Order: sequence, then C-alpha cells, then structure tokens
Amino acid sequence: MPPSTFELDKSHLAEEIRKRKARLVFLQLPEGLKTYGPELAAIVEEAGATVIISADPCYGACDLASVEARSVGADLIVHYGHSKMQPKAALPTLYIEAKAKTTVKSAVKKAIPLLETWRNIGLVTTVQHVHKLDEAKTVLLEAGKAVAVGDAGRLKYAGQVVGCDYSNAKAVSREVDAFLFIGGGKFHPMGLVLATGKPTVVANPYEKRAFRIKTEALKLLRKRWANIQEAKLADEIGILVGLKPGQKRIDQALKMKNLVEDAGKKAILLAIREITPEALMQFPTIDAFINTTCPRLSLDDAGRFRLPLLTPKEALVALGKIQWEKLCKEGWFEN
Ligand code: SF4
Repeated sequence: MPPSTFELDKSHLAEEIRKRKARLVFLQLPEGLKTYGPELAAIVEEAGATVIISADPCYGACDLASVEARSVGADLIVHYGHSKMQPKAALPTLYIEAKAKTTVKSAVKKAIPLLETWRNIGLVTTVQHVHKLDEAKTVLLEAGKAVAVGDAGRLKYAGQVVGCDYSNAKAVSREVDAFLFIGGGKFHPMGLVLATGKPTVVANPYEKRAFRIKTEALKLLRKRWANIQEAKLADEIGILVGLKPGQKRIDQALKMKNLVEDAGKKAILLAIREITPEALMQFPTIDAFINTTCPRLSLDDAGRFRLPLLTPKEALVALGKIQWEKLCKEGWFEN
C-alpha cells in the first residue's frame, strides 16, 4: 500500500482508542480513504478494540453513521476525512480530519498571474488544506495582495468551505474582488461562484497548477436555467427528504410541498438515503424533483439524472416566488 497523501494521525487514533477504552469501533471513511481502512483497523485492534469498517459511501460529516454504529453495538465512531458538523452525535465520535500533506505554495504562485487584475483576495479552502492557509496567505501578501479569510462561525475553521456551506466566503464577499480557492476538484470552486458571484481562481496543490473557473461556471448556470425551465412545466413534483442525519430538512421539504400545491401542482414527499437515478426512476409519474438533501447532487451530479433535480432556491424560481436574477445575486446556498 503506497503511503497516504493525507495525514491519518495513526498514533492519535491508537491513543484515543486506549484513552476512551473503546470496545467496538465503527470506522467510517470517505471514498478516497477507504483503501486505508484495513490498515487503520489493525491499529484500532492493536489498541484493544474490535473494529467494523463501514463499506457504505460517505461523502461528508452530514453522513455520520450513528444509527448504523448503534445497530451493531459500537461504542465509538471514528469518522475520517471531515470536520465535525453535527453538534450532538448519538454516539461518542472521534473525528480525524485527514489533512493533506501536499504543499500549496507552488500552486498559489501559479495563481498570482491569474489574479493580476484584482487586489483584494478572499482565501478559501476545504478542511484538507486549512492548515496551509497561512502558507498561501504569505505568497499572496508577498505578491502585494490584500487577503481576507472569512469566519462566519458556522464551520470549524476560518476560510473553510464545505459543499453546502459557503458562509465563510460570503462573510468577506463584499470586501474582496475575487476568490482564490485551494484544493482539488471543481465542485467547491463552482459552488463558490454560485454562492458569491465573484471571479474565482483555483490553486490545485495536487496537480501544482492554477486556473480560472469561468467557462465551467457559465456552463453550469446555463444548465441550471434549463432545468428550472423544464421544472416549470411539471405537473407532479417529487420532494426529496434526506435520511442522512445532516441532510434531513423536513421543515424545508414541507414548506416546498405547500408551495408546489399552491402553484396547482401535485407534490409527493420521498424519504431517501442514497439518491440515484435508479431510485428516482421508480416513480415514473413524477416530472421533476426538489432536492432538500445534498446540493452536490443538483449542481455537480445533475447530468446523471434524466429529470430536473432542483435545489430549494431554484424551486422558488420555478414556482415564480423569486426571480432568476435574485437567485444569481443572492447565491444558491442558504449558508
Ligand atoms: S455538500 Fe453534501 S455531502 Fe458535503 S457536507 Fe454538505 S450535504 Fe454533506
């Protein structure tokens, strides 16, 4: 097994197992880290506990497997790869954030020419690189930029974003000309554009490159517009209620149901854990869906679904409650 590019904090893991005198550990890892499950399980066992690795998908701290862990009699959850999201977990939980070992310096240096037009830069990242924000900040300051790192107090770290919470970016959005996102993938920087409407440059430390996320963002906006137009024609709308602990927004789903019915359409509430095209295809009379669960499915994975899968704010546009322009101005996310 090649060494992980993430800090798996193995000695901390062993220490905590001993300190907490855990007997049966439920080990939850995101997809990219599952491969290290058996190695981490061996460490847990050596520290004196039996371990069960969750083989189910896990995309965020919203998906803390408290019910599953309880059902097998576990007395501790070890959750890798995400920072704490839910204030109260049903079972004692150890979060190990798996910080990336990669330096961000060279990618940030490559971002400087792309940020040339702007002086005030908002700096954001995911939990994997949050410990490298100072390193990135230094490079920006040396290049003559003013740097803002937002802290709205909702997430664990200043400057941190998750796919459904850009509050730290929004907290500084008015005072910056553009954002620099540090991390891999395009989902978070696209979300940043949708949340703030600001020009966004990505510094990808894994590929040691930087690029502007503009064409993709415009493409995504066009797709979202088309999906909203299609949903306007729907007679029957399915409203998805998430069953993962951090994705359960029953009040919002009920509010959506009322709005759909007020618009003279039929609303069907559907409780769901894993949203897949196959699961939704079981309801062939439904013409469009409102997704009150993870926004990633609507914004990043929409291509997998045959029918529109609107976020709640997009649904407000489709139902004539707000204008598209307002959505673009105020952003896609509640936080
Ligand atoms: S973006 Fe989706 S998977 Fe990530 S924390 Fe939010 S709800 Fe969970």
